[in-house]
Amino acid sequence: MRAQAIVVGAGPAGAATAILLAERGLDVLVLDRARFPRPKLCGEYLSPEAVRVLDRLGVLKAVDGASPVELRGMTITAPDGTVLIGHYRAMGQWRPYRGSALALPRLALDAVLADRLRALGVDFREQVRVTDVVREADRVVGVETVDASGAARTLRAPLVIAADGRASVIAQRLGCRRPHRLRRMALGTYVSGLDDCRNMGEIFIDPPDYAILNPVGPDRVNLSLVVPLADAAPWSARLETFFMARARQLPHLARRLERARRQTAVQAMGPLAYRVAPPREGGVLLVGDAAGFYDPFTGEGIYTALRGAELAADVAAGALEGGDTSAAALAAYERRRRATFGDKALLVRALQAVIRRRRLANLTAHLLARRPDVLDLLLGIIGDFVPPRALLRAAEAKESR
Ligand SMILES: Cc1cc2nc3c(=O)[nH]c(=O)nc-3n(C[C@H](O)[C@H](O)[C@H](O)COP(=O)(O)OP(=O)(O)OC[C@H]3O[C@@H](n4cnc5c(N)ncnc54)[C@H](O)[C@@H]3O)c2cc1C
Repeated sequence: MRAQAIVVGAGPAGAATAILLAERGLDVLVLDRARFPRPKLCGEYLSPEAVRVLDRLGVLKAVDGASPVELRGMTITAPDGTVLIGHYRAMGQWRPYRGSALALPRLALDAVLADRLRALGVDFREQVRVTDVVREADRVVGVETVDASGAARTLRAPLVIAADGRASVIAQRLGCRRPHRLRRMALGTYVSGLDDCRNMGEIFIDPPDYAILNPVGPDRVNLSLVVPLADAAPWSARLETFFMARARQLPHLARRLERARRQTAVQAMGPLAYRVAPPREGGVLLVGDAAGFYDPFTGEGIYTALRGAELAADVAAGALEGGDTSAAALAAYERRRRATFGDKALLVRALQAVIRRRRLANLTAHLLARRPDVLDLLLGIIGDFVPPRALLRAAEAKESR
């Protein structure tokens, strides 16, 4: 039977969109070039609100079965060594779903989502690579694919959901992808031997770099280091050497890593940021990293993928059920994305301006050290369960006092 929607990519964005469409009784075909479980360079932090969406997808029990680490908050070390400790907690009417964030290896998270696809009977084909979109007039009507044996096929459907990640072939073929002037690279590995790294994420800010430690299991900590791309590029053949030397240059991180042992090879990715314009064509929606990515500092990538999937599935289901997947019928998706993610995107950019400047980062840390309530509010926003406007309201309330 011909699918009503082809979902390209079975990462968090694609798997979640397909699960939600399948639950509404729609025929979905999911294609991924990889064979699962597959590796993905990631800090492996799941914001408290991402946990809510995982519950809605019916996978939270399976996620719990994979023994995620519950993160109660974040410890942030400023360039001058000022330490801030923020917690996820109820803030007025807003509360973290289940009280904490989670840290879970992507191998486990993505496998849980793929299992849910299979359990729902979704036609999920691994090792099928999408090479191009098929267009007719002003619409996308399918995709060109190549399978593991090298066989090429054209697959058609009224709707194509591009969830093919940061190198999205679909976004590129539609001419939507643009470079970003923030040019950074991430390097990541797992380390062991860290004392007392159990239920808090740790961030070390040291412009122009920052590093994040996330405990993902017993004596296993995900370490990400983000640096200017220009500094790392000359070392592309010797990333391990660069990584070790650079981590030693961040004094507070270096102290924290004194007894740490590296468990895996260093993985690298960059440039991290890129922009994606919404497609003008009908018959297509971009979800997750395929729709753009900025920086992993505030850790909303998986949440954005999952929440974006909720928005996409709502609009897609309405369009498919109404028999109209034209650009006009799908336009609500982009409006809802802007309404949902726009304010946080502004805050994230403001935070980036702070963490790129040593004096400003120290000054901000001193202010937050005196206002633990504002720090927790900020953590709630970063954790996606407090709306960014709450910060403005807190500032207005202070001024009127
Ligand atoms: C260094 C780093 C650290 C990060 N840390 C965090 C963090 O701690 N927390 C967080 O929330 N986010 C983090 N992120 C962001 C997060 O990893 C992404 O936002 C998230 O993976 C997006 O999910 P996705 O489903 O859109 O894409 P992906 O997870 O990349 O999935 C895309 C899928 O598409 C498939 N695919 C690609 N091309 C094709 C093709 N042509 N044909 C068929 N299939 C294809 C791939 O095989 C893959 O399975 C981090 C990102 C980076 C770079």
